[in-house]
Amino acid sequence: MRTVYCDHAATTRCHPEVARRVYEYLTELYGNPSSIHAVGRKARKGVEEARAQVAALLGARPAEIFFTSGGTEADNWALRGALEANRAKGNHLIITPYEHHAVLDAAEALGREGYEVTLLEVEPGTGIIRPEALLEAMRPTTVLISVMAVNNEIGTVHDIAGLCAAAKAKDPDVIFHTDAVQAAGYIPLDVNRLGVDLLSISSHKIYGPKGVGALYVRKGFRFGRGLTVGGGQERKMRAGTENVPGIVGFGLAAEIAARELDRRAAHAREMRDRFLRGVLAIEGVRLNGVDPFLHPELRHPGNANVSVEGVEGEAMLLRLDMAGICASSGSACTSGSLEPSHVLLAVGCSRDEAQSSLRFSFGEENTAEDIDYVIAEFARSVEYLRKLAAPGR
Ligand SMILES: *Cc1c(COP(=O)(O)O)cnc(C)c1O
Repeated sequence: MRTVYCDHAATTRCHPEVARRVYEYLTELYGNPSSIHAVGRKARKGVEEARAQVAALLGARPAEIFFTSGGTEADNWALRGALEANRAKGNHLIITPYEHHAVLDAAEALGREGYEVTLLEVEPGTGIIRPEALLEAMRPTTVLISVMAVNNEIGTVHDIAGLCAAAKAKDPDVIFHTDAVQAAGYIPLDVNRLGVDLLSISSHKIYGPKGVGALYVRKGFRFGRGLTVGGGQERKMRAGTENVPGIVGFGLAAEIAARELDRRAAHAREMRDRFLRGVLAIEGVRLNGVDPFLHPELRHPGNANVSVEGVEGEAMLLRLDMAGICASSGSACTSGSLEPSHVLLAVGCSRDEAQSSLRFSFGEENTAEDIDYVIAEFARSVEYLRKLAAPGR
């Protein structure tokens, strides 16, 4: 049976060149970067090359890149590191209600420890954030603002440069973090153009290995050490022996992502638009989020999210899975639980609409032929499930 993978927002397949490099660092260049001997020095060199490659993808300096175990750790560290180091200024944090759980749950944990958390209002339907809403939420005690660059479920692209500039015009000392995990490799990211102080990315969303990511930390503001204590790795900022194979793989994936960004984005967009033209023609299928045919720049090129009237998203997923099609309902981290997506609820979907939603995220290996197959199977599944729900019809 054919497999059509349409879940690139959940993870991507490791690029073959990247996989080869990871293998090389598992088997040949296996040293500990802290060792002073030749084997260790080779591993160190690999890590520092990777740091330069990741920095280049973000327009940052290598010294501003800190490797982590992934996007989740980078997000957790960003929030905690900023707030704990700046208690003298205050205890207030602003996030959006539809962040990834890595930010949302980190904020919730901080809230239990006495920090005050404001959830910004987002525009119904699209999730777009107005600068005025952000300015209204700011207080003299606001230490950190965290707004994701691209939403992982509905693909909304936020104007991080505009939001960050507005916030800093009001309070030059406010720290701005963006979770750019979904944006990386599809939307040009330049930390100086964006103006952000902290930015999270993850390797496995850009055709790199899992379990590795990075936090960009702009030089020159108060920021706390990582979440672990132990050795003095990452310039004493994050304890623990570096995941060298992961890091070098991530570095190469970042270099390829920078080089291939325009082509990958154009290809994903072509696949996504073809898919949407097909499924939106089916009765009772509705798009969630920004209309990419009207505002292509405001939606991630590979993201499609639709609700199917009268059909459970989970049931659709199972039908599609039987046809070899991989998609997701809600975000991958929460599927398995029957709670409707917090993202869709945050943009004003009803519980029914949220529960009948599906996300398809397209990427490198998808072809036009694949998409036509997905559209046909999607239509068959909708018809089947609707008949099942109302046998008389
Ligand atoms: C996948 C994802 C994360 C988590 O990254 P991991 O490397 O899987 O921990 C965080 N934020 C967003 C927006 C994501 O899509």
